[in-house]
Amino acid sequence: MFGRASRRSDNTKYYEILGVSQGATQDELKKAYKKAAIKNHPDKGGDPEKFKELAQAYEVLSDPEKREVYDQYGEDALKEGMGGASSSHNPFDIFEQFFGGGGAFGGGGSRVRRQRRGDDVVHTMKVTLEDLYNGTSKKLSLSRNALCPKCRGKGSKSGASTKCHGCHGTGTKIVTRQIGLGMIQQMQLVCPECRGSGEVISDKDKCPQCKGSKVTQEKKVLEVHVEKGMQHGQKIVFQGQADEAPDTVTGDIVFVLQLKEHPKFKRKFDDLYVEYTISLTEALCGFQFALTHLDGRQLLIKSNPGEVVKPDQYKAINDEGMPHHQRPFMKGRLYIHFNVEFPDSGILSPDQCRTLETILAPRTRNHLTAMELDECEETTLCDVNMEEEMRRKHQQHQYEAYDEEDDDAGPRVQCAQQ
Ligand SMILES: [Zn+2]
Ligand SMILES: [Zn+2]
Repeated sequence: MFGRASRRSDNTKYYEILGVSQGATQDELKKAYKKAAIKNHPDKGGDPEKFKELAQAYEVLSDPEKREVYDQYGEDALKEGMGGASSSHNPFDIFEQFFGGGGAFGGGGSRVRRQRRGDDVVHTMKVTLEDLYNGTSKKLSLSRNALCPKCRGKGSKSGASTKCHGCHGTGTKIVTRQIGLGMIQQMQLVCPECRGSGEVISDKDKCPQCKGSKVTQEKKVLEVHVEKGMQHGQKIVFQGQADEAPDTVTGDIVFVLQLKEHPKFKRKFDDLYVEYTISLTEALCGFQFALTHLDGRQLLIKSNPGEVVKPDQYKAINDEGMPHHQRPFMKGRLYIHFNVEFPDSGILSPDQCRTLETILAPRTRNHLTAMELDECEETTLCDVNMEEEMRRKHQQHQYEAYDEEDDDAGPRVQCAQQ
C-alpha cells in the first residue's frame, strides 16, 4: 500500500535473535525466549542490549497480528505503526509476564518492578464562540496527588523499605482453599499487608508528612491556552500532570473544549453564518446596517446601488469567518442569510397598487377576458400553517395504517374565516 509490499527485507532478524525457524509455533517461540532471556538477564550479568533485543523480538512474534506485519513488511513497518503498537515496551515487563514479579531468581531485585501508567483525567471546558475567535487563556485550580516532596515518594525517612513478609515483595498472595471433595481452588489476591506495593515501612521510619503513603495532596494551577480557531471537541493535553503515584508513569490532564451556542453566529468549519431580516422596502431599495463581530468590531454591511435582495438569499464577506487554527491570519467567510419581511395584508389601497404597478411590472395575468372568466370555476384560497398541516397528515396516515377500511376517517379541514 505504500509501495513497500515488494520490498521483502529485514523480516528474518527477529527469528535469528530467538534462534528459531520462520515457521516456529507459539510454543517453540515461548521456549526459545524463556531460555535465552534467563541466560541473558542483566541481573545475571547478561548483556542488557541482547536482553532488550530478545524482548522486542518475542513481543512482536508472539502477537499474531504484529508477526504478520513483520513477516510481510519487516521491522520498519512496525516502527511506522502498521502493527498498531510501538515496540518500546520495557523488556523487564515482558520478562516479568513470564516469571511473575521477579520470581525467576527467587524474588530478585526490585528493579524489575512494572511501571504502570496512571489514568488520564479528562475535564470538559466550556468556551464561547468569542473565545475560539479571539483566543483566550483560563486559569484553573485543581487538586491532585503528588509524590510526597519530603520523602520524594519513598514513604520513609531513611529512604529504605523492607520487603513485605506477607508476599515476599510480590504484592500478591496465592491463596488455596478446598472447595469440595479433593477439589482445590487457587486464587491470587492483592497482599493485604502491603496493599500490593510489595514493601513495608516500619512505624518509626514513616515519613511524617505523608505518613508512609508516599503521596500528598497538591493544589495546582493550570493555565489553559485556547488558541484562535480551535474547534468544539478539540483536546488540550497537559502531559504527565494527572495524579502521581509511586512506580507509575503519570497520566495526562486533558481538557475537551465544549462550545456554547451563540445567539447570533453559527460556525461551520472555518465559516460563520448569521441570519438577518430586512424589510421589503430595504430588499427593493437598498439597506445598510452595522453588525457587531465576535471581537467587538462593527462591520458596515450595505447593499450595492440598485441591488435587490431576494428572500432566502445568501451573501458572503471574505476573511470575516473564523481564523484557521495555527494560521489565524487566514480566515473563512462570513455568510449572511437574508430574510425579507413583507408588509401585512391590507396596507395597500387600490390606488397605491396602481402606483406600484407603474414602477414594478403591471399585473398582466390579472386581465382575463369575460369569456375566459366564464370558463373558470371559482375557488377559495385558504391560509395554512404548512408545518401544522404536515404534522396532521402524518398522524392521519398512521391512523389509516391501523384501520385500512375506513378511508374517510380523517377530518375535513374548513377554510378559516379571516
Ligand atoms: Zn505484601
Ligand atoms: Zn513522605
